[in-house]
Amino acid sequence: MGARGVVVIGAGQGGLDTAAALRARGYRGRITLVGDEPALPYQRPPLSKGFLTGDTAAGELELRPRAFFAAQNVELLSGIRATKIDRERRAVLLETGATLPYDSLVLATGARPRTLPVPGAGSLSGVLTLRGLADAEDLRERLTGPPRRLVVIGAGFIGLELAATARRLGHEVTVVEAQGRALARALTPAMSARLVAEHVDAGVRVLLDREVTGLWGESAGRVEVVELDGAERIPADLVVVGIGVLPNTELAALAELQVGDGILVDAQLRTDDPDIYALGDCARFPSPHAGRHLRLESVQNASDQAKCVAAGICGDRVPYTAVPWFWSEQYGLRLQIAGLTAGHDETVVVGDPDAGRFSVFCFREDRLTGVESVNRPADHGIARRLLASGTELTADDVRRPGFDLKTHVRGPQERLSHA
Ligand code: FAD
Repeated sequence: MGARGVVVIGAGQGGLDTAAALRARGYRGRITLVGDEPALPYQRPPLSKGFLTGDTAAGELELRPRAFFAAQNVELLSGIRATKIDRERRAVLLETGATLPYDSLVLATGARPRTLPVPGAGSLSGVLTLRGLADAEDLRERLTGPPRRLVVIGAGFIGLELAATARRLGHEVTVVEAQGRALARALTPAMSARLVAEHVDAGVRVLLDREVTGLWGESAGRVEVVELDGAERIPADLVVVGIGVLPNTELAALAELQVGDGILVDAQLRTDDPDIYALGDCARFPSPHAGRHLRLESVQNASDQAKCVAAGICGDRVPYTAVPWFWSEQYGLRLQIAGLTAGHDETVVVGDPDAGRFSVFCFREDRLTGVESVNRPADHGIARRLLASGTELTADDVRRPGFDLKTHVRGPQERLSHA
C-alpha cells in the first residue's frame, strides 16, 4: 500500500460503494472521494418514482449518513469537479487548483442525459432531463399543483417510470417514442407490450414510431408545442427528454485512456493504465454473460463493480463476473430482470401477462441468458442463482407441463440480495 492512497472521481453509487468496499476489505490507506454534486452521495432510482410523489423524502435518498465518512476515514470532497488526470505524476487536478496524488485512481463518473437535436430543445424553458437530484427537485416542483400537459420523449425506463408517476399525480401524459415499441433495446416484445398496455390503461397516450422534429413556444420562451414528424403538433406545458445517456468519458479521453461508448476496461475493470480503474455507467467492460464488451446502467452493476475494483486495489485480482440484474416500478408492476435478455433467439412466457404476473425466459442457442419477471420475485431470485451457477435450462424444460423453476436449482447457493 502506497502513501498516496486511492482517489475516486465521482461520488455516486459506484464511487461511494468503492470507498465502502475498500474499508470493508481492511484497506487502511487514504481514500478521497471527489464529487461535483453538492449533496451527500444519494440513490438515483427514487428520482423517477417515489421522490416525485413525495413518498420518498430527500433525506431518505442518502446512501450513507454524513457520520459514515468520518467514521470510515473517507475524505469526501463534494461540489468539486476533477478537471484533469496527470498520469505521469499520478495525480488528479481539481477545479479548485488543488492536486490529489494517487496510487490507484477509480473513475466512477457516471453518465449524462442525451440531448434532443431538434429546434427549441436547447433554448425553451420547460424542457427538462432527469439525472440528478437538482433535476428531480425542479421536476417535483413543476409536477406539484394543477394538472399539466406533460410530454415525455423516449419510452425507456426513466421515461416510462416518470410517465407512470406523473399520471399518478393527475397530469395528462403523452409518451412519444421513435422506435416501433417501448424499451426495444432492453426488453422482449412481450414485456414491452405489457408495460405499454399498463400505461394505456392508466390513461397515458403512447405514440410509437413517431419522431419529434421540433419544440415550439411563443410566450416568454416557454415550450408550448411538440411537433411530430414535421406535421402533427401536440400541446405541452412541460417536456421531459428521456432518450438515453452518454457516458462521462472526457477526463479519461483527455488522459489518453482508451474510450469508445465508455471507458474501456479489462476483465478486472482496469483501464489500459494499470493504476486506473473505471466502473459503473461510464465503463465498458468484457461481459462473460454477453460474450462481448458492454456498458450497463444499473445500481447492481455499479455496486458489484465497486467491490471488484476494491478487491483489485487490495491485491486480490478477480475478474468481474456478477450476473446482471435490474428492476423498475411502474404502477403496481414490479419488473425485475435477471441476466441479459437482449440478443435472444427464443422466448418462453410463463404465467399470466393479462393478470400482471408472468416471466419471460430468454434463450440464445438454447441456453438461458436472462429472465424478465413481473410480480414474480421468486422466478427472479431463482433465475439469478441459475445464471450464476451456469445450471443448464432449455426452452423445452420451461415449456414442459408442470414446469417448476425451483427444481432446477443446483450448485452453490448464491446469497441473494434483493433490491
Ligand atoms: P452515478 O451514480 O451517476 O455517479 C457519477 C457521479 O460522478 C455523479 O455524481 C457525477 O456528477 C459525478 N462526476 C462526473 N464527472 C465528474 C468529475 N469530473 N468530477 C467530479 N465528479 C464527477 N438503476 C437501477 O438498477 N434501477 C432503477 O430503478 C434505476 N432507476 C433510475 C432512475 C433515474 C432517474 C436515474 C437517473 C437512474 C436510475 N438507475 C436505476 C440507474 C442507476 O442509478 C445508475 O446506473 C447508477 O447510479 C450508476 O452509478 P455510477 O456511480 O456509475 O454513476
